[in-house]
Amino acid sequence: MDFRDTPDEAVFRAELRTWLTNNVPTGTGTSEAAADTDLESVRHNWNRTLHEAGYAGLTWPREYGGQGLAPTYQAIFHEETAAADAPASNNYVGLNIAGPTIIAWGNDEQKRRFLPPLLSGDEIWCQGFSEPGSGSDLAGARTKAVLDGSSWIVNGQKVWSSFAHLARWCVLLVRTDPSASKHAGLSYLLVDMHSPGVEVRPLRQLTGESEFNEIFFTDVRVPRESILGAPGDGWKVAMTTLEHERGTASFALAAWLQRNLSRLIDLAHERGRDGTIPADDPLIRDAIAHEWVSYQALRFTNYRSMTTILKTGSPGPESSVTKLAWSEANQRLTKLARSIQGADGSLDGPDAVWDGFWQYEQLRSRGNTIEGGTSEILRNIIAERVLDLPRSR
Ligand SMILES: Cc1cc2nc3c(=O)[nH]c(=O)nc-3n(C[C@H](O)[C@H](O)[C@H](O)COP(=O)(O)OP(=O)(O)OC[C@H]3O[C@@H](n4cnc5c(N)ncnc54)[C@H](O)[C@@H]3O)c2cc1C
Repeated sequence: MDFRDTPDEAVFRAELRTWLTNNVPTGTGTSEAAADTDLESVRHNWNRTLHEAGYAGLTWPREYGGQGLAPTYQAIFHEETAAADAPASNNYVGLNIAGPTIIAWGNDEQKRRFLPPLLSGDEIWCQGFSEPGSGSDLAGARTKAVLDGSSWIVNGQKVWSSFAHLARWCVLLVRTDPSASKHAGLSYLLVDMHSPGVEVRPLRQLTGESEFNEIFFTDVRVPRESILGAPGDGWKVAMTTLEHERGTASFALAAWLQRNLSRLIDLAHERGRDGTIPADDPLIRDAIAHEWVSYQALRFTNYRSMTTILKTGSPGPESSVTKLAWSEANQRLTKLARSIQGADGSLDGPDAVWDGFWQYEQLRSRGNTIEGGTSEILRNIIAERVLDLPRSR
């Protein structure tokens, strides 16, 4: 892997940087906007702005609205948008999870139907995998779909579905053959969230936001052809989804970490309310240096996974390493930011340092080691599928 931009990539980076300087709305980065009641419209407008400027779907096929560029351009995009503090997308699931899975498994008609409105942000997606009785044990999904003429009839419940309250479509893992083995009995449906019988109930998170939801399905009719792969392929299709959930976005994760790391360094240089400057303390400098080294390791691991993507088109199980390292680093970093505030670190809201920015970040970071596979599950995957160690069970 050559770590430098090619001449074309360097031009792309420079143009993007200028474009971001002129177009990023101020004060709308992920966390500053946490309290912004109009966050959804900010994010929606940002999706549109990116799409109109040709920055949506950089690596996606041109015939479905993408730009047909190499994955390195997507990595540059993630680095530059994070550095510019651009708003997050409310179609994160669509762009990083559903879209790549439809590209990998969808037929032409499905790609034509679903990819363009997904890229433009006109149709938001959610992911219906986890259930009350099966999160880590995804293959234990019990929501069932039974074929009835030209429709699947879906009954069951999903939980923790991010953005389901905004979504028009859901990638849904269902059991279609209860007599088959656990993994072989699953199928992967594309479900219209406006169908009769779909009920979404938002759940409140630790941060106070309602970003994820329960979804109840009662006799929901889904057209027979709204399936990715064949009936019984659900587990294989879901593995593609999870590789992208943990892998495609890895440059974005590293870029967010770097952004928080530079903010942490700014914070350490500010005189605290007790009159001291945290960066004067060698133990704090040591802890920050430790985080900087972790970030560099993550960055170079990403380059290695980029080489896998360039060779195979897919991130592979190694993507679990990035997701694990990033989520744990972000928790340590936000905890460190609170601890260097001393007693002020226990305040929240407008009374807190930086209006509670770090308090919000730390609470939100708790979910990072759970969503997209818990740290324990990722360690199992790394042991068994990357390091080829004996299976735990
Ligand atoms: C912010 C957030 C957003 C999310 N968004 C979505 C979404 O959009 N769509 C979706 O489908 N899901 C989503 N999830 C759900 C997430 O994928 C699950 O919470 C996760 O897979 C864990 O499942 P669980 O909650 O059922 O916990 P469990 O599977 O019950 O695990 C409980 C504990 O046991 C441990 N454990 C379980 N099995 C093993 C094992 N074999 N070896 C070692 N330890 C084990 C786990 O690590 C965990 O600590 C989201 C979760 C969060 C926090």
